[in-house]
Amino acid sequence: MPALPPPHVLQHAIETRFVCHRCGHCCKGDGLVQFGPLEADRMADHLGLSRRQFLKQFALRVEDDQWILRDRFVQDARTAGRREQWCIFLERDADGRYGCRVNPAKPDQCGSFPAQWRNPDSLQTCVGLRRLLADLKAEPAAPKAP
Ligand code: SF4
Ligand code: SF4
Repeated sequence: MPALPPPHVLQHAIETRFVCHRCGHCCKGDGLVQFGPLEADRMADHLGLSRRQFLKQFALRVEDDQWILRDRFVQDARTAGRREQWCIFLERDADGRYGCRVNPAKPDQCGSFPAQWRNPDSLQTCVGLRRLLADLKAEPAAPKAP
């Protein structure tokens, strides 16, 4: 794989130019989405539920005032027969792209990806990051300071 841009260049580009292509990869697999009471209330309000109803239906408790979102398993022709693990709020639209059912109210952990955190393999799995990297590599290097 060609060399990555310097970390500060990559970070700045992610913060200012990143575009999500709704590939859904960041919402699949066994990544744990953890959240607290304020985020629970935000998602519950978005869905028109009480906090209690929301937690019962969509979350698992991990410790006092901390929960993780449940997952669901999907296996159909569009997953090529593979059994995929999805966040319970991941949806696939008719155009084949993915969306989040609680997007305006999603947990802080989700909203902070990929600018504030990302996994080591995110540069390969996230289509938005891959395309941003490709753009950066195609751009002429900035002139060095004299
Ligand atoms: S809450 Fe939404 S953004 Fe977060 S993992 Fe689930 S589907 Fe993805
Ligand atoms: S992996 Fe990247 S491009 Fe794909 S849905 Fe997540 S943020 Fe968007």
